[in-house]
Amino acid sequence: MSNQDLVNYLTECGVCQMCQLRYLKSRGNEYQDIKQSFKNLDLKYSDIICNNDDELPKKKQRSNVCTTCLGLFSKEFQEKLIAAILKQGLEEHECSSIVVAISTPIILQVRQLSMWFALRQKFEHINTERPPDVPLKEAIKLIINPILCEKLHKNYDVNGIMISVTLMHNQNSEEISNLEKLNKHLYREKHENQQMSRVWIEKHYTPGIVDVDLYKKFITVPPPIPNDSLYITSISVTGPTVYIAGRYRKLSRKLSHTPWLLNGIRVMEDSVEEIIIRSIVPHFCAEQSKIIFMSSGREDVDVRCLGKGRPFVLEIPNAHRTKLIKKDAFMMESNIEKSLQISVRDLQTAMREETVHIKTGEEKKHKFYRALCKLEEPVTIDVLEKLNLPEGFLIDQKTPLRVLHRRPLLTRPRRIHSLRARVCQNNLKAVILDVVTQAGTYVKELVHGDFGRTSPSITSIIGKPIDIISLDVIAVGLEWPAEVDNSLIND
Ligand SMILES: [Zn+2]
Repeated sequence: MSNQDLVNYLTECGVCQMCQLRYLKSRGNEYQDIKQSFKNLDLKYSDIICNNDDELPKKKQRSNVCTTCLGLFSKEFQEKLIAAILKQGLEEHECSSIVVAISTPIILQVRQLSMWFALRQKFEHINTERPPDVPLKEAIKLIINPILCEKLHKNYDVNGIMISVTLMHNQNSEEISNLEKLNKHLYREKHENQQMSRVWIEKHYTPGIVDVDLYKKFITVPPPIPNDSLYITSISVTGPTVYIAGRYRKLSRKLSHTPWLLNGIRVMEDSVEEIIIRSIVPHFCAEQSKIIFMSSGREDVDVRCLGKGRPFVLEIPNAHRTKLIKKDAFMMESNIEKSLQISVRDLQTAMREETVHIKTGEEKKHKFYRALCKLEEPVTIDVLEKLNLPEGFLIDQKTPLRVLHRRPLLTRPRRIHSLRARVCQNNLKAVILDVVTQAGTYVKELVHGDFGRTSPSITSIIGKPIDIISLDVIAVGLEWPAEVDNSLIND
């Protein structure tokens, strides 16, 4: 069989020239210029073009809808597809790339199969194990995706705007039911009611497994000229997910981390999460309900977070914008500062892969605290000496009583990396503790001991009652995200 024999037969069977290139196992950009590709293969190029093309002179023949792709690779279909995508508001998205997912009906697979049987019948040497054509899924990537990118002026990128298209054909159920009849005949005992899935067909239907003559009793070989092209049943355009990272400082001792509700009623008016979301998200998308706010740990309502602040990241799905220029980031930071409750710095876009910094290795991170504590009597040298433990120590910490209603009862070993104490200048009964702990340590309980549930505790170390007055997070040991000064406006 020469390539010309193959092309002649495919033409006779009503296969479009794009699909003919598939059967010639064309690769890459060979699909961009059919005429040239035919020439390169030393093939006669006929003027029969897949589907109606009104720009062609009348004398050129109009052809049928392709028997194997059902018009999927026709110019007419591509135009319909582009029009449908534009109708979905693609232009509202400020994103330079797209990713395309086209879901095709099973009829297409049945037709590739029938064509395989036809070729096998016509040309002896056609492989019976592996399909003779470039699979449709791959061909869509090679043919349709570049055209969509060109016409929509976008790049192809997996992180781009997701265009999902579902296609159907009006002969789909009819042709599937023919295959089901054959399936009942072949696999009566075990798989009589087997659904005709892609995987099932691939596994059980090849000319190597099913006899051509038997197949032909149920299904037309070669596939007949269809009465219509594929049509679009659904199409959606979804913006990419954008990640915005930064660090927040919590300046208030009356602010919860996330909305705090008790029996459905708000306890606190606002929260760290809400202030950040409402100041940043509208820039990227209209819908605030699907945003995910993640931070490297959290602090209690009455605990401040100072220093450089605590790293956080916002996951914003279906964003209509993917970039964050410094000017806008600085504006957001300034607006958040006006809340007087928190401030935010280092705002920047992040890659999804980077967000693992927030989630993983949490146990290994160091957290730096400063606690103001009070004894019942003036602080002695003895107390200060006992509380200067630069080498740190290990504790066992049972889930604190105050969080038992929402956390399981566990005993966690935790490392206190270092402890340093000094007397407060204004109050001789007060001591300032600088503590570096393993992430996940409950610091208030570390101080007062939680009725012996944290052991050892500061109380047990000094052998005297000690109470925590106030607590600040001084630093969170995570070098991510990178520090950026958005006030230096240069873009
Ligand atoms: Zn075709």
